[in-house]
Amino acid sequence: MVHAPERPPAGAPPVRINLYSDTQTKPTPAMLDAMMRAEVGDEQHGDDPTVHALCDRMAALMGKEAAVFMPSGTMCNVASTLVHCRPGEEIIAHETAHILTSEGGAHAALGSVQILPLKGPRGMYTPDDLRGALRGKSRHTPTQRLVEVEQTANTGGGAVWPKATLDEIAAIAHGAGLNTHMDGARLMNACVAAGVAPADMVAGYDSVWLDFTKGLGAPLGAVLCGSRDFIDEAWRWKQRLGGAMRQAGICAAGCLYSLDHHVDRLAEDHANAKALARGLAQMEGVEVQDPDTNLVFFTISGTGLAAAELVKRLRMQGVALSLLGGRLRACTHLDVTAPMIDQALEAIRAALAKG
Ligand SMILES: *Cc1c(COP(=O)(O)O)cnc(C)c1O
Repeated sequence: MVHAPERPPAGAPPVRINLYSDTQTKPTPAMLDAMMRAEVGDEQHGDDPTVHALCDRMAALMGKEAAVFMPSGTMCNVASTLVHCRPGEEIIAHETAHILTSEGGAHAALGSVQILPLKGPRGMYTPDDLRGALRGKSRHTPTQRLVEVEQTANTGGGAVWPKATLDEIAAIAHGAGLNTHMDGARLMNACVAAGVAPADMVAGYDSVWLDFTKGLGAPLGAVLCGSRDFIDEAWRWKQRLGGAMRQAGICAAGCLYSLDHHVDRLAEDHANAKALARGLAQMEGVEVQDPDTNLVFFTISGTGLAAAELVKRLRMQGVALSLLGGRLRACTHLDVTAPMIDQALEAIRAALAKG
């Protein structure tokens, strides 16, 4: 059976406070204006100047030779695997990595690769874990090709990998002859939280991408960066996968706008997430993980109320949260203000008090 995205419960009011995901932001009027004014051309034909401007800017920001505009982050991850790996090869990643849990099995289905899952708290493994996972070369073992990290680690609680750890992991991988890939869906959250420039943060990674639809507020688009040769091959996969577009500059203009206006303000989302976590921590029976960035994971098993019931009660009050593998997730982003955090805490308190 195929599961379609869930729908709200019958009779639910419109969402007032959307903590469901940072993907649910609506383009601001100023972003829409920039999109409407975009100079466009046939992207697939290499004729869209706004897409070129975005790719040039992203390659410079990440300190890589080249970049390609993709319709989604998933396509960035899948195209990267298809360029780095041959069938039967292995990717080393955290067991909660998006490539393993949330891409419909694409890496196995399309790349015929396997993923070796590493454990570790908050979506992160250690340099020693990686050393321990390296296989000797023999005809019995799969050839290991790629080491993957997620910055920030999504289901790890939006956790930020320290730059020193990223550098060490990349050095171990390269020393063993493996390539490195960073899923940077929320890379800017990490850079803002850590105060590290993107090019420094990703210096050890052969391929890296950023999602413009996660907290940056654009309606569509992700950009994958790497060497000139890598991006040429990624372009071939973009074409094969049906990701080559036409007047995509309309979307690229939204991404460019977000780089100018929506990066520094991520600090507000992080402050709102901290405030939310502080409020939740004061509630009896609620366990909350201290957020590094904009994702607040918590459980309510000590309250006697089922997590799904809390989600439903809040949704009936116009407050949206998500439930991921038994944990609740509240996500802050540019459509969530500080007063909304207080209102959400009030709604959660009231929903829990009903018993
Ligand atoms: C959302 C997400 C993706 C996929 O991005 P889409 O643009 O939704 O395809 C990949 N990795 C992580 C960590 C994500 O959070």
